[in-house]
Formats: sequence, structure tokens, C-alpha cells
Amino acid sequence: MKWKEQLLSLEPYKPGRPIESVKKEFGLDQVVKLASNENPFGTSQKVVAALQSVLSSFAIYPDGYAANLRSAVSEFLKVDEEQLIFGNGADNLIQIISRAFLSPGKNTVMANPSFSQYKHNAIIDGAEIREIPLIDGEHDLDAMLQAIDENTAVIWVCSPNNPTGIHISREKMTSFLKKVPEETLVVIDDAYHDYVVADDFYDAVEFVNQYKNLIVLRTFSKIYGIASLRVGYGVAHQDIIRVLEPAREPFNVNTLGQIAAVAALSDQDYVNECRRKNREGMKQFEEFCEEHQLHYFPSQANFILIDFGTNGDEVFQYLLQKGYIVRSGNALGYASSVRVTVGSNEENSGVIEAMKQYLQEKASLTN
Ligand SMILES: *Cc1c(COP(=O)(O)O)cnc(C)c1O
Repeated sequence: MKWKEQLLSLEPYKPGRPIESVKKEFGLDQVVKLASNENPFGTSQKVVAALQSVLSSFAIYPDGYAANLRSAVSEFLKVDEEQLIFGNGADNLIQIISRAFLSPGKNTVMANPSFSQYKHNAIIDGAEIREIPLIDGEHDLDAMLQAIDENTAVIWVCSPNNPTGIHISREKMTSFLKKVPEETLVVIDDAYHDYVVADDFYDAVEFVNQYKNLIVLRTFSKIYGIASLRVGYGVAHQDIIRVLEPAREPFNVNTLGQIAAVAALSDQDYVNECRRKNREGMKQFEEFCEEHQLHYFPSQANFILIDFGTNGDEVFQYLLQKGYIVRSGNALGYASSVRVTVGSNEENSGVIEAMKQYLQEKASLTN
């Protein structure tokens, strides 16, 4: 068969383990998933109400233009409707951008470690990948700029970065955007911007009016709590959106997702409340790390990468049989760490207790 050769060496994305399968394997009644940075408090009651009163027929295709959602997001962000593109999650937009810009002969620049899907899609589309190591969990923007040449089609910036949670300051981002050549598309992956409380953070959408080579990606999967319904969007100058649109599947955002996203957006009190609770939960983890002298990156997102100084898979396995699903740092570029999503107060206490037990057992083995 005449496969694209690069596909033969690729592994499929390994998602966090599903709750049901962990319950079965270890005979547990309760399992808490803190692996994929979902909202531990679920979604706004307004979303629940909107979904319960859905009147549309499921036999009818979704609105391919996402008119209601488009109008809601456009009003919320104060951008034109023509500046928006919608995706079946932000993942879908990454794929669309890759498809539209990357091919053999082109190259693309990204940080490492960062979100896996930039590289994954670039491999499939046959572009050369230029990965620039993080410095202390942060993008090395100067080195990323240096890696750009006349064949660089896309440069990816994830801030706060997954898996470190480190954000880029307004000052650094502004100076970076000024220096990127106009012919290179900048993607700012803004998946966690709603969680950021740092004073020096920027509003990425404001940059869109200034830079015609920029697209900002956002998602309803994280703080808005509707990951299962798969809705994300991109904001850019309308000239970018116009060329990008034909690379999008016609009905990529489903009907329930569109309805839920409109309702989710309308409840900013809920978003603010979740942001506040996330910071409280983050403190629980930071205190635990300080107490046990474990290295962690100060995260502005809803997850924290904790270095146990051993094999991340081992910590992952230990927590799994205690009923906590986290992500091993092994697959994320930090082999001795685990990435934990900040949960509810009770969930955080529970997983911290399990991590303390792990450290104790480890210590008693070596003594
Ligand atoms: C979760 C995540 C996404 C993807 O979100 P979806 O909208 O669920 O596809 C994109 N980028 C980063 C950095 C993420 O962590």
C-alpha cells in the first residue's frame, strides 16, 4: 500500500485512562481522574439547562457556520464574525492549520516539551520540525526566532505551556510578535488563558488586530467544562480565516456542542468561580511540594508538574491503584515527574495523601 511513509512510525495519541477501566482493574469503587485537565466542577448549570431543553432534531446536520455560537463569541470578544473559525475542539484547529500550511519543503518551529499535537500533525503533513528546548519550563523565544528561516510556515507558542504551566509575560510576547517575519504564521495556543491570574499576562485577542500573521486558539474543554462536546475556536485577521476555512470539514462542530458553548460563555460568574477555586487547589499542591522538597513548576494553568526524582511511571502506577489517575511525565518529556490536574479540594487532599504514602513507602524501602 502507498501509505504516507511518516505515518508508519507514528503512535496514536495515548489519552488519560478512562475511570471505568481503572475501577475494574483494581476493584475500586471510586476513581478520580486528574489526568486531562478537565474542569473538576463540571460545567455551568446554564449549560445543563440549555442541553435539557434542546429542541433540534438529531437527524439534521449541525449548522456548519455555527451562526449562534459565532455571534456569541464575536460579541464576547468584540471581534468581527469573519475573524472566527470553529473546530471540533482546539485539536481540530491544530489539524486544520497544519493541513493548510505544512508540507514537505516547509518547516515548523515549536517548543519542547509542549503540547504533543503540533508535532504529531506536522509529521503527518511531512514538514520539517524544529523543536526548541524549554528553559526552566518556559519557551526560549529568542532561540525559536533564530530557528525561523524563509521556509518556516508556522511557529507554535503554548502559554501557559502544557505540561509545565509556565506562561509568557506580556512584555516577552509583544517583543516576540514584533520580530516574527510577516510570512510566518504565529499560533498562540491559549487553552489555559482563563486560569491565569498573573498580573503580567496579556490578552492574546488584542494582538490579533495588530498582527496579521497571528491566530489565537481557544477551547471550551478546560475551564468551561464541556470537553466531551468538542468545541474550540480560532481568532485571527479575516484574511487568515478566509484562506483557512476551506480546509475545515463542513460540519465539524456538532449541534449539542454549539448549544452548550453558547450557554457556557454566558456564565462568566461560573468561570470566575472556577478560576478562584483552581488557585486555592494549586496552593494545596504547592504546599505539599514545599513540605517534601519536590521540584515543581509554578503553574498558571489548572495542572502542576511535580518531580518525584524517580520514574514517573512508577508514581503513576502507585497512584492508579489508590484510585487516582494522573499523567506520567514519561510521555510528556519529564521522565521523573507526574502531571496532576488540580481537582476539587477533597480530590486534591486525597491525591496528596496518596503521594505522601508513596514517599513514605519509598523512604522505608531505602532505609
Ligand atoms: C487540552 C488542550 C488543547 C485541546 O483542547 P480541545 O479543545 O479539547 O481539543 C489544545 N491545546 C492545549 C495546550 C491543551 O492542553
